[in-house]
Formats: sequence, C-alpha cells, structure tokens
Amino acid sequence: MNSKLVSEILSQKNEKDAVILAHSYQPPEIQDIADHVGDSLQLSRIAASTVSGVIVFCGVRFMAETAHILSPDKTVILPEPDAGCPLADCIEVPALRSMQKLYPDALTVLYVNSPADVKAESYACCTSANALEVVESTPSDEIIFAPDRNLGTFVSRKSDKTFHIWNGACRCHAIADLQDIKTKMEEWPDAELLVHPETPPETWELAHAVLGTGGMIRHVGESSAKRFIIGTEEGMVYRLRTLYPDREFVGGGDIYCVNMKKITLQKILDSLRNLEPVIELDTETREKAYAAVARMTEITG
Ligand code: SF4
Repeated sequence: MNSKLVSEILSQKNEKDAVILAHSYQPPEIQDIADHVGDSLQLSRIAASTVSGVIVFCGVRFMAETAHILSPDKTVILPEPDAGCPLADCIEVPALRSMQKLYPDALTVLYVNSPADVKAESYACCTSANALEVVESTPSDEIIFAPDRNLGTFVSRKSDKTFHIWNGACRCHAIADLQDIKTKMEEWPDAELLVHPETPPETWELAHAVLGTGGMIRHVGESSAKRFIIGTEEGMVYRLRTLYPDREFVGGGDIYCVNMKKITLQKILDSLRNLEPVIELDTETREKAYAAVARMTEITG
C-alpha cells in the first residue's frame, strides 16, 4: 500500500471531519483504510447515524444515493462519478410505470440496487437479506419485483404470492461460472459453498446456503466448517479473510465487478481535498424514495 497516500487521506479525513465507508466488494486497500466496511444498507444506516458531516462512500452510485436519502443534511461524496451499476441502470421510471399499469393490483417491491427516481415510484425497497420479509409484509397478494430477476425468482419460490418479475440482472453475478464453482468444490470437498441470490438458480442447487453479504458473514461465524467457497464478488473473499483469519476462503464463479473497482486511493484523496463529487437529488425524488426505504426499515427493524 502507498503509505504516503494513506497518511494524506487520513489527514484530509480528520481535517474535513469525514467518515470513509466502503462496500465489501471494494478492493483490499480501500477496505483497509475505511472506517466501516459493509453492505449498502448497513453503510447507509451508519451514514445516517454518524456525527461526521462528510461521508465518502466507496461503492457505486445507487449506494451513495441511498446514503443521501437517509441523511440529506450531510455531504455525501462518491469519489468516482462513473461508478455506476448496470443492474440499477436496467430499470427506468417510464418502463416501471408501464408494468404497474399492466398489473394495477400489484405493489412494487424494489431491490435497493436501483436508481433513486425508481425507488420513488415503488411501494417498498428491500435488500437481498430481507426481500422475503418485505414481500410477505406488503399488503397485496400480487407483487411487481424489480430489477433483479434472480433475486425475484429466489424470493418467489419461497412465497405464495403472485410475482411479476422484472427481467434485469447483475452482469457479474448472472454470468457466474458454474464450472469454476464445480472445480473449486472438487478441490475443496470439505468446504461449504455460499452463493449470492443474484447468481443463477443452477448455483443455488449446489450451495450450502444462498445469502447476501451480511448473511455470509454471519453464516461463517456460526458454522463449524473451516473452508468456504464464496459465490459472490471477489472483494468479499478479502473481507471474510480479514474477519476470520482462522478459516480459508476462495472465490467461486469468477465474479468480478468492474464498477466496484473504479474508486482508487488517489480518487479518495482528491475527493476529500475538493469535497466533490457530491451526490444530490431533488427534494421530491429524495422524499418519495425515502418513503420506500423507510417502509423497508419499518418492516425489518
Ligand atoms: S456487483 Fe452487480 S449489483 Fe453490485 S454494483 Fe456490481 S454490477 Fe451492480
């Protein structure tokens, strides 16, 4: 790691009263300098509760937007403005409205991996961890689930409700290499395979558990297994190795998110020096999106 760069970041962070949040898919050197590492909702909650006035969000745009939605009085910075998410970008307001017209009795449950203006058109948001709980608590037997079709399918198999599932996908999880997972399972026959619900259904059938990133962390802590094959973005392998140095982890499925790797230490330093680029939403969009996020937190606590 570049120690001069790191000490400059820490100095700027103190000077600007900032907190650095990093998603578990961020590169190791960014996880190492972050004040908190976690999933997008955990980090947004930390953003809302921190006393720091400046939040440097190392992740992708929809995550920084969610932090801004939950803490509009703070300055939320995304160090690389081009760090988008193809899954979030696969849904737009007019197309969602058309689907809602087709199914007027359905309520829309939206994965947080989505743009703020689409959140504003939805009944409630959900994460991969609480999607089933949100769906079951939604006061309709008919659900429009968007934008991830794999997560929607995973939840629909556990629910008696009628689902209309948006045909979107995370480009990296949806093309998880099944053969790579099988090879790793042969190499580590004693290992548990944990996969993310954004991966295709064929991987779920092989897995010991299908979990979001927070669920994977909890599962490893409670498991007696010593080795794990991790079927989600490779940054999570580093996160788990840091948390559980007595266990062994290897990535399965060759899952790599190029957008999650767009933020660098130099970009973090530049953003702290200049306090930009700032994430901002118009008030109406932010307040309507807040209502959908708040419904999720009311349901799941
Ligand atoms: S891993 Fe997939 S869902 Fe997550 S930011 Fe990358 S493209 Fe988006």
